[in-house]
Amino acid sequence: MATPLGARGTAHHPTTRPQVLTGARVVLPTGTVPDGRVTIDGTKIAAEAPHGNVVDVSGHWLVPGFVDLHNHGGGGASFSGTAEDVQRAIRTHRLHGTTTLVASTVTDDMDILVRQAGLLSELAEQGDLAGIHFEGPFISPCRKGAHSEALLRDPDPAEVRKLIDAARGRASMVTLATELPGGLDSVRLLAEHGVIAAVGHTDATYEQTVQAIEAGATVATHLFNAMPPLGHRSPGPIAALLEDERVTVELINDGTHLHPAALELAFRHAGPGRVAFITDAMDAAGIGDGRYLLGPLEVEVSEGVARLVEGGSIAGSTLTQDRAFQRAVTIDRLPVEDVVAALSANPARLLGIDDTVGSLEPGKDADLVLLDENFELKGVMRKGEWVVDPQLA
Ligand SMILES: [Zn+2]
Repeated sequence: MATPLGARGTAHHPTTRPQVLTGARVVLPTGTVPDGRVTIDGTKIAAEAPHGNVVDVSGHWLVPGFVDLHNHGGGGASFSGTAEDVQRAIRTHRLHGTTTLVASTVTDDMDILVRQAGLLSELAEQGDLAGIHFEGPFISPCRKGAHSEALLRDPDPAEVRKLIDAARGRASMVTLATELPGGLDSVRLLAEHGVIAAVGHTDATYEQTVQAIEAGATVATHLFNAMPPLGHRSPGPIAALLEDERVTVELINDGTHLHPAALELAFRHAGPGRVAFITDAMDAAGIGDGRYLLGPLEVEVSEGVARLVEGGSIAGSTLTQDRAFQRAVTIDRLPVEDVVAALSANPARLLGIDDTVGSLEPGKDADLVLLDENFELKGVMRKGEWVVDPQLA
């Protein structure tokens, strides 16, 4: 239909006035402000806005959007799938507060991983993903978890390089068993290329893990899971990873992967600055029980716990970061500020993107999560747009 004459000059412009969210308990890097305000101007957090639309969010917590370092999918789709699958998984996790996400692959043929890296790098280029995490194939058959044994290989630096190249500058992290032949050289190669070397799915001793950290490894992939347990005569990788100030430890805080006491032990020992709460989520996250694929392997999800159909290994989680938040505060009784650090600031710093995300500070992206007093998610904003609209009166 034609536009009526005269209507042209008065066309509706989308509202461009800044929004000022007031009255919430706002968690800032310096602590929690009880009656704080956050100003959003366009896609960014602004310092002040005298003419902003004031939105009352009292009775809520306002925290930075979550950053997930390790995530395989959600909403019935995985990061090993098509571009549409990848978008669906991203969308699912955004609805749960994850505004920044690194897509994790699982062990597969090198050719398939190279192709998938190309696809994921395009989505990273568009700003939909923060990067790519290759979990496998350079991992230990002794600690393979839900990875296909036949496709595992030693970490040959030339092959590691092939994956980094395929990711076209978007490789964020590679999880590898650093004790395998070529492991330490691969760690050095990753460090040289600014890619995080993560120790995981490993059978390393304490001493071997110390060597990996000396070579440049800076992350523990889901600490405690897929590595030898902490022993008093052979402390293994856990002690080495927990004690070194240079290492950030990933924890899957879903109540299944870690006993609360193990979580508390790690959290207390590493301190709130060196923990990243990750989901390690697979397709079923945000959906529910049923049969799914994790890479080439079949997984059965029952009561929210994902296990391989063959062998019964835990196969990723169905966790979302809003649930990790709620659990950490209400069950683990961790201080809200420490939980915010583990879900936002620490992973952002690790990824080197803390100039744009990870805290509620002027100049950063307007990525934020609104939680009620029971830490239920009520709103999610990404780059100034509500992904989950809090429906405030
Ligand atoms: Zn994983």
